[in-house]
Amino acid sequence: MKKPLLVIATHNRDKLREIRRILSRCPWTVKGLDAFPPPTSVRETGKTLEANALLKARKAVQRTGHAALSDDSGLEVAALGGRPGVYSARFAGYGCSYADNNRKVLRLMKGVARARRRAVFRCVAAFVTPEGHERLFEGRCPGWIVEESQGIEGFGYDPIFEPRGKGCTFAELSLTQKNKISHRALAFQRAAVHLRRHFR
Ligand code: IMP
Repeated sequence: MKKPLLVIATHNRDKLREIRRILSRCPWTVKGLDAFPPPTSVRETGKTLEANALLKARKAVQRTGHAALSDDSGLEVAALGGRPGVYSARFAGYGCSYADNNRKVLRLMKGVARARRRAVFRCVAAFVTPEGHERLFEGRCPGWIVEESQGIEGFGYDPIFEPRGKGCTFAELSLTQKNKISHRALAFQRAAVHLRRHFR
């Protein structure tokens, strides 16, 4: 039997790699948006992760005509009033690099004691079908902001985020280890349970 096609609503290869791995045992053909040229960008105008995740999934369904799964993630730092949150990608300004964002967080957190360095990575995944079925799934990974960047794996804020119970940053874990506990893994595992029922 032909496997159903599920579009992952991203052009971000780092993310697609993680998501493919998370969904690897699921019975769908998974394709990223790069498989549907030309590239399109969605302006993430939502004020919440939920709104942006839905924007991206709806746009991918319109573009491809297939069911789509998107995600929007952000790092919420308690001592910064929940920032960068929904603005995580552009915290240091439009066109900034991952390193610029990390430097900005570390600068703002300079001198803040360990007990006040709590943060949580939050991911919202949105599943949308051409028939108009829409569902949201959330995953959270609590931890701390470390004092200096550590590690070279992963992407984004991984070198400055220490997940609870690990004693090292996300960037010091392998992808397999990160995928056991990450916000994205939890959100997509929840989505996968729903998708198994949906595509049955
Ligand atoms: P997005 O909107 O879901 O693409 O995520 C926004 C930003 O959050 C990304 O550009 C990264 O800087 C950051 N981010 C999201 N997920 C992760 C992660 O797993 N590790 C590190 N940074 C992440």
